[in-house]
Amino acid sequence: MSKIYDVIVLGAGPAGLAAGLYAGRSRLSVLIIEKGQDGGQIAITDEIENYPGQVEGDSGPSLIARMTEQAKHFGAERVSDLIKSVELEGDVKKLVGAKGEYLAKTVIVATGAFPKPIGCQNEGKFVGKGISFCATCDAAFFEDFEVYVVGGGDSAVEEAMYLTKFARKVTIIHRRDQLRAAKSIQEKAFKNEKIAFMWDTVVDSVEGEEMLEAMVVKNVKTGELTRIEADPDDGIFGLFGFIGYNPNSALFEGILDMDHGYIKTDDNMHTNIEGVYAAGDIRVKSLRQVVTAAADGAIAAMQAEHYLANKE
Ligand code: NAP
Repeated sequence: MSKIYDVIVLGAGPAGLAAGLYAGRSRLSVLIIEKGQDGGQIAITDEIENYPGQVEGDSGPSLIARMTEQAKHFGAERVSDLIKSVELEGDVKKLVGAKGEYLAKTVIVATGAFPKPIGCQNEGKFVGKGISFCATCDAAFFEDFEVYVVGGGDSAVEEAMYLTKFARKVTIIHRRDQLRAAKSIQEKAFKNEKIAFMWDTVVDSVEGEEMLEAMVVKNVKTGELTRIEADPDDGIFGLFGFIGYNPNSALFEGILDMDHGYIKTDDNMHTNIEGVYAAGDIRVKSLRQVVTAAADGAIAAMQAEHYLANKE
C-alpha cells in the first residue's frame, strides 16, 4: 500500500515550495508533486524586484532554485507527475497521477495559473513559431529582430524592457491609452528608447507560412484594421502575450468551491473540504505576487499541522 503522507502539496511554485518548507520544518512527512519545472510563472520571469531581500538583478529561476533547495533541506520529498483525478473527502485523500497514486491526510493545492492566450485568429498555429508567452525562454531567438508585446500590466511592461536587451525594437500593443503597470515600471519603459507604444489596439489575426510573418491589428476606438509585416530583411518578428493568467483549477471543478475558476478559501487557506487548503495564485485574493504566494503556503502548512495535531 502507498505511503500515507501527512501533507501532499500540489505544485512547486513559491506557494507550494513555501508550504513544503513549513510542513517539513514542522516534522510532517510531506510530498511535493509538480508536473513540470519548479517555479510556475516565476520560472519564466527575468527579474523580481519586489520580493523582500531579493538580490538586485537576480532572476526568478535563481530565487526558485533557492526555495527548492530549502524545501528539500527540511525533508520535503519530491515527485514529478501529472495528477489526473482527486478524491479529497474523508480522512485519507487520494491523488491519482499518470505515474501512480498518492495518499495524504491533508492536501495543499498550489497549482497556480497559466498565461492567457492573446485571443487573435490563427494564434494556435504560431505558438512557438513567433508567438511566445515567455520572454526569458524565447528572447534570445529574436536577437536584433523586431518584437511586439501585447498587454499593459506589470508583466507586459517589465518583459518588454527585458526584450530590449535582445530585439532592436519592442512595440507594446495595449487595448487602452494608459498602462495598468505600476508607475515606477512605466517610468522606466517610457525612458527606454527601444520601446514604442501602439495604444487602443488589439491583435486581430496573425499570418505566415511556417513562422509568424505578418499580423493585422485593430484600433478599438475607430475599428480601423492595419496590416503589419515583418521587415523584408528579417522575414519574421516576435509577438509576446502578457495579458494575465487563467487558474490551473480544472481538476477541482465540482469538488472545491470556486469563483471564476479561482479556489475560494478563508484567511487561513481552508477550502470547503476539511484538511484541504489552497495557496498562491490559484485562490481568490487581491494581490498575486511571490511574497503573497509564499505567505499563503506557510499559512496553509501551519493549518495542516494544527489540523493533524488536533486529530491525534
Ligand atoms: P494584469 O495586471 O492583469 O494585466 C493584464 C494586462 O493585459 C492589462 O493591461 C489588460 O488590459 C491587458 N489585457 C487583459 N486581457 C486582454 C485582452 N483580452 N486583450 C488585450 N489586452 C488584455 O496581468 P499581469 O501583468 O500578468 O500581472 C498579474 C499580477 O502579477 C499583477 O498583480 C501584477 O502586479 C503582478 N506582477 C508583478 C510584477 C512585479 O511587480 N515585478 C511583475 C509581473 C506581474 P487593461 O489594462 O485594459 O485591463
